[in-house]
Amino acid sequence: TAFGFRKVGEGEKQGLVNDVFSRVAERYDLMNDLMSGGLHRLWKDAMVAWLAPSRRPGFKALDVAGGTGDIAFRIVEASGYQAQVTVLDINGSMLAVGRERAIRRGLEGNLTFVEANAEDLPFPDSSFDAYTIAFGIRNVPHIDTALSEAFRVLRPGGRFLCLEFSDVDMPILDRIYEAWSFQVIPRIGKMVAGDDEPYRYLVESIRKFPNQENFAAMIRRAGFARVTWRDYSGGIAAAHSGWKI
Ligand code: SAM
Repeated sequence: TAFGFRKVGEGEKQGLVNDVFSRVAERYDLMNDLMSGGLHRLWKDAMVAWLAPSRRPGFKALDVAGGTGDIAFRIVEASGYQAQVTVLDINGSMLAVGRERAIRRGLEGNLTFVEANAEDLPFPDSSFDAYTIAFGIRNVPHIDTALSEAFRVLRPGGRFLCLEFSDVDMPILDRIYEAWSFQVIPRIGKMVAGDDEPYRYLVESIRKFPNQENFAAMIRRAGFARVTWRDYSGGIAAAHSGWKI
Protein backbone atom coordinates (compact mmCIF):
# COMPACT_ATOMS: atom_id res chain seq x y z
CA THR A 1 0.00 0.00 0.00
CA ALA A 2 1.09 3.56 -0.59
CA PHE A 3 0.97 4.66 3.05
CA GLY A 4 1.70 1.43 4.92
CA PHE A 5 4.33 0.93 7.58
CA ARG A 6 7.20 0.63 5.15
CA LYS A 7 9.92 3.18 5.74
CA VAL A 8 9.16 6.45 4.01
CA GLY A 9 12.24 8.24 2.65
CA GLU A 10 12.61 11.96 3.26
CA GLY A 11 12.20 12.70 -0.43
CA GLU A 12 8.78 11.15 -0.72
CA LYS A 13 7.57 12.15 2.74
CA GLN A 14 6.38 15.63 1.73
CA GLY A 15 4.50 14.17 -1.23
CA LEU A 16 2.62 11.72 1.01
CA VAL A 17 1.80 14.43 3.53
CA ASN A 18 0.50 16.74 0.79
CA ASP A 19 -1.65 13.96 -0.59
CA VAL A 20 -3.18 13.27 2.85
CA PHE A 21 -4.12 16.91 3.50
CA SER A 22 -5.40 17.56 -0.02
CA ARG A 23 -7.73 14.63 0.39
CA VAL A 24 -9.04 15.53 3.85
CA ALA A 25 -9.05 19.36 3.75
CA GLU A 26 -12.84 19.68 3.63
CA ARG A 27 -13.29 17.23 6.50
CA TYR A 28 -10.16 18.15 8.43
CA ASP A 29 -11.87 20.07 11.26
CA LEU A 30 -14.45 17.35 11.86
CA MET A 31 -11.70 14.72 11.84
CA ASN A 32 -9.73 16.65 14.45
CA ASP A 33 -12.71 16.75 16.79
CA LEU A 34 -13.48 13.06 16.36
CA MET A 35 -9.91 11.83 16.56
CA SER A 36 -8.95 13.85 19.62
CA GLY A 37 -12.36 13.69 21.28
CA GLY A 38 -12.36 17.49 21.11
CA LEU A 39 -9.13 17.74 23.11
CA HIS A 40 -7.23 19.52 20.33
CA ARG A 41 -9.37 22.59 21.09
CA LEU A 42 -8.20 22.68 24.70
CA TRP A 43 -4.55 22.16 23.71
CA LYS A 44 -4.76 24.97 21.16
CA ASP A 45 -6.45 27.26 23.72
CA ALA A 46 -3.68 26.45 26.20
CA MET A 47 -0.92 27.14 23.70
CA VAL A 48 -2.35 30.50 22.69
CA ALA A 49 -2.94 31.40 26.36
CA TRP A 50 0.76 30.66 26.95
CA LEU A 51 1.68 32.87 23.99
CA ALA A 52 -0.45 35.65 25.50
CA PRO A 53 -0.29 37.78 22.34
CA SER A 54 0.16 41.48 22.83
CA ARG A 55 -2.93 43.70 22.54
CA ARG A 56 -0.92 46.52 21.05
CA PRO A 57 -1.79 47.19 17.40
CA GLY A 58 0.77 45.81 14.99
CA PHE A 59 1.66 42.59 16.78
CA LYS A 60 2.75 40.27 13.97
CA ALA A 61 2.54 36.49 14.19
CA LEU A 62 3.33 33.77 11.69
CA ASP A 63 1.39 30.53 12.04
CA VAL A 64 3.23 27.87 10.05
CA ALA A 65 1.46 24.74 8.84
CA GLY A 66 -1.56 26.82 9.80
CA GLY A 67 -3.99 24.69 7.81
CA THR A 68 -7.59 25.72 8.35
CA GLY A 69 -6.68 28.56 10.73
CA ASP A 70 -7.37 27.27 14.26
CA ILE A 71 -4.27 28.83 15.84
CA ALA A 72 -4.42 32.07 13.83
CA PHE A 73 -8.07 32.68 14.80
CA ARG A 74 -7.23 32.16 18.46
CA ILE A 75 -4.28 34.57 18.28
CA VAL A 76 -6.44 37.25 16.66
CA GLU A 77 -9.13 36.82 19.33
CA ALA A 78 -6.63 36.75 22.23
CA SER A 79 -5.03 39.96 20.93
CA GLY A 80 -8.36 41.79 21.10
CA TYR A 81 -8.46 41.72 17.28
CA GLN A 82 -5.21 43.70 17.09
CA ALA A 83 -2.79 41.04 15.79
CA GLN A 84 -1.91 40.58 12.15
CA VAL A 85 -1.42 36.87 11.56
CA THR A 86 0.06 35.22 8.49
CA VAL A 87 -1.24 31.69 8.00
CA LEU A 88 1.34 29.73 6.03
CA ASP A 89 0.79 26.24 4.68
CA ILE A 90 2.24 24.15 1.89
CA ASN A 91 -1.24 22.94 0.96
CA GLY A 92 -3.59 25.23 -0.96
CA SER A 93 -6.65 23.09 -0.19
CA MET A 94 -6.17 23.50 3.56
CA LEU A 95 -5.64 27.26 3.15
CA ALA A 96 -8.78 27.55 1.02
CA VAL A 97 -10.84 26.06 3.86
CA GLY A 98 -9.09 28.41 6.29
CA ARG A 99 -9.89 31.45 4.17
CA GLU A 100 -13.60 30.52 4.01
CA ARG A 101 -13.73 30.03 7.77
CA ALA A 102 -11.98 33.38 8.33
CA ILE A 103 -14.55 35.20 6.18
CA ARG A 104 -17.43 33.52 8.00
CA ARG A 105 -15.97 34.76 11.31
CA GLY A 106 -15.24 38.24 9.98
CA LEU A 107 -11.53 37.84 10.73
CA GLU A 108 -10.16 38.23 7.22
CA GLY A 109 -8.90 41.76 7.92
CA ASN A 110 -6.45 40.33 10.46
CA LEU A 111 -5.23 37.45 8.35
CA THR A 112 -3.01 36.81 5.35
CA PHE A 113 -2.80 33.38 3.73
CA VAL A 114 0.46 32.27 2.15
CA GLU A 115 1.13 29.01 0.36
CA ALA A 116 4.76 28.11 1.08
CA ASN A 117 7.10 25.60 2.67
CA ALA A 118 8.11 25.76 6.36
CA GLU A 119 11.64 24.87 5.22
CA ASP A 120 11.93 27.95 3.01
CA LEU A 121 9.92 30.87 4.38
CA PRO A 122 9.29 33.71 1.90
CA PHE A 123 9.93 36.49 4.45
CA PRO A 124 12.94 38.67 5.29
CA ASP A 125 14.87 38.15 8.53
CA SER A 126 13.32 39.55 11.75
CA SER A 127 9.79 39.91 10.31
CA PHE A 128 7.62 38.57 13.17
CA ASP A 129 7.01 38.96 16.90
CA ALA A 130 5.85 35.34 17.22
CA TYR A 131 6.13 32.10 15.29
CA THR A 132 3.64 29.32 16.01
CA ILE A 133 3.28 25.84 14.57
CA ALA A 134 0.65 23.33 15.73
CA PHE A 135 0.65 19.69 14.71
CA GLY A 136 2.74 20.67 11.73
CA ILE A 137 6.44 20.23 12.42
CA ARG A 138 6.09 16.46 12.60
CA ASN A 139 5.09 16.47 8.93
CA VAL A 140 8.05 18.53 7.73
CA PRO A 141 10.84 16.36 6.24
CA HIS A 142 13.75 18.48 7.56
CA ILE A 143 12.79 19.67 11.04
CA ASP A 144 16.18 21.35 11.63
CA THR A 145 15.71 23.47 8.53
CA ALA A 146 12.21 24.50 9.62
CA LEU A 147 13.55 25.47 13.08
CA SER A 148 16.38 27.56 11.57
CA GLU A 149 13.84 29.32 9.38
CA ALA A 150 11.69 30.03 12.43
CA PHE A 151 14.70 31.57 14.15
CA ARG A 152 15.60 33.65 11.10
CA VAL A 153 12.18 35.27 10.56
CA LEU A 154 11.65 36.13 14.25
CA ARG A 155 12.80 39.51 15.47
CA PRO A 156 15.22 39.58 18.40
CA GLY A 157 12.99 39.17 21.46
CA GLY A 158 10.53 37.13 19.39
CA ARG A 159 8.80 34.01 20.66
CA PHE A 160 8.66 30.51 19.19
CA LEU A 161 5.82 28.16 20.20
CA CYS A 162 5.24 24.67 18.87
CA LEU A 163 2.34 22.35 19.71
CA GLU A 164 2.85 18.72 18.80
CA PHE A 165 1.95 15.20 19.82
CA SER A 166 4.50 14.01 22.32
CA ASP A 167 5.43 11.22 24.69
CA VAL A 168 2.89 9.91 27.17
CA ASP A 169 4.67 8.96 30.35
CA MET A 170 1.81 7.64 32.46
CA PRO A 171 1.07 3.96 33.03
CA ILE A 172 -2.45 3.00 31.80
CA LEU A 173 -2.89 6.28 29.86
CA ASP A 174 -0.07 5.21 27.50
CA ARG A 175 -1.89 1.94 26.81
CA ILE A 176 -5.21 3.62 26.20
CA TYR A 177 -3.52 6.11 23.92
CA GLU A 178 -1.76 3.35 21.99
CA ALA A 179 -5.01 1.46 21.44
CA TRP A 180 -6.81 4.65 20.45
CA SER A 181 -4.07 5.54 17.92
CA PHE A 182 -3.82 2.18 16.25
CA GLN A 183 -7.40 0.91 16.50
CA VAL A 184 -9.71 3.89 16.65
CA ILE A 185 -8.03 6.61 14.58
CA PRO A 186 -7.64 4.62 11.35
CA ARG A 187 -11.28 3.52 11.68
CA ILE A 188 -12.51 7.08 12.06
CA GLY A 189 -10.34 7.96 9.05
CA LYS A 190 -11.96 5.23 7.04
CA MET A 191 -15.46 6.25 8.11
CA VAL A 192 -15.13 9.96 7.49
CA ALA A 193 -12.55 10.19 4.69
CA GLY A 194 -13.12 6.74 3.19
CA ASP A 195 -9.51 5.70 3.70
CA ASP A 196 -7.50 4.48 6.68
CA GLU A 197 -4.01 4.33 5.17
CA PRO A 198 -3.20 8.04 5.47
CA TYR A 199 -4.10 7.89 9.16
CA ARG A 200 -1.86 4.91 9.74
CA TYR A 201 0.91 7.00 8.26
CA LEU A 202 0.10 9.94 10.56
CA VAL A 203 -0.07 7.74 13.66
CA GLU A 204 3.29 6.25 12.71
CA SER A 205 4.76 9.74 12.30
CA ILE A 206 3.66 10.56 15.87
CA ARG A 207 5.59 7.56 17.15
CA LYS A 208 8.75 8.60 15.33
CA PHE A 209 8.69 12.19 16.58
CA PRO A 210 11.29 13.01 19.29
CA ASN A 211 10.16 13.14 22.92
CA GLN A 212 9.84 16.38 24.89
CA GLU A 213 13.49 16.54 25.99
CA ASN A 214 15.00 15.65 22.62
CA PHE A 215 12.77 18.08 20.79
CA ALA A 216 13.76 20.83 23.27
CA ALA A 217 17.41 20.09 22.43
CA MET A 218 16.68 20.50 18.71
CA ILE A 219 15.03 23.87 19.36
CA ARG A 220 18.08 24.98 21.36
CA ARG A 221 20.38 23.87 18.53
CA ALA A 222 18.45 26.17 16.17
CA GLY A 223 19.54 29.08 18.40
CA PHE A 224 16.59 29.54 20.75
CA ALA A 225 17.08 30.43 24.43
CA ARG A 226 15.02 29.66 27.56
CA VAL A 227 13.47 26.60 25.92
CA THR A 228 10.78 24.98 28.06
CA TRP A 229 7.70 22.85 27.50
CA ARG A 230 4.31 22.09 28.98
CA ASP A 231 2.63 18.71 28.74
CA TYR A 232 -1.07 18.56 27.95
CA SER A 233 -3.27 15.56 28.78
CA GLY A 234 -0.40 13.57 30.27
CA GLY A 235 1.93 14.31 27.36
CA ILE A 236 -0.37 13.24 24.53
CA ALA A 237 0.46 16.73 23.32
CA ALA A 238 3.13 19.18 24.45
CA ALA A 239 3.84 22.82 23.73
CA HIS A 240 7.47 23.92 23.44
CA SER A 241 8.47 27.55 23.92
CA GLY A 242 11.69 29.34 23.02
CA TRP A 243 12.94 32.91 22.62
CA LYS A 244 15.18 34.54 20.07
CA ILE A 245 17.43 36.85 22.07
N1 SAM B 1 -2.08 23.88 12.47
C1 SAM B 1 -3.34 23.29 12.03
C2 SAM B 1 -4.07 22.71 13.21
O1 SAM B 1 -3.43 22.58 14.27
O2 SAM B 1 -5.23 22.34 13.09
C3 SAM B 1 -3.13 22.24 10.93
C4 SAM B 1 -2.29 21.05 11.32
S1 SAM B 1 -2.33 19.77 10.12
C5 SAM B 1 -2.23 18.32 11.13
C6 SAM B 1 -0.71 19.81 9.41
C7 SAM B 1 -0.53 20.87 8.34
O3 SAM B 1 0.86 20.95 8.01
C8 SAM B 1 -1.26 20.58 7.03
O4 SAM B 1 -2.13 21.64 6.72
C9 SAM B 1 -0.13 20.45 6.02
O5 SAM B 1 -0.46 20.88 4.72
C10 SAM B 1 0.95 21.30 6.65
N2 SAM B 1 2.32 21.04 6.18
C11 SAM B 1 2.89 19.84 5.97
N3 SAM B 1 4.15 19.99 5.54
C12 SAM B 1 4.40 21.33 5.48
C13 SAM B 1 5.52 22.11 5.11
N4 SAM B 1 6.66 21.55 4.72
N5 SAM B 1 5.42 23.45 5.16
C14 SAM B 1 4.26 24.05 5.56
N6 SAM B 1 3.16 23.35 5.93
C15 SAM B 1 3.22 22.01 5.88
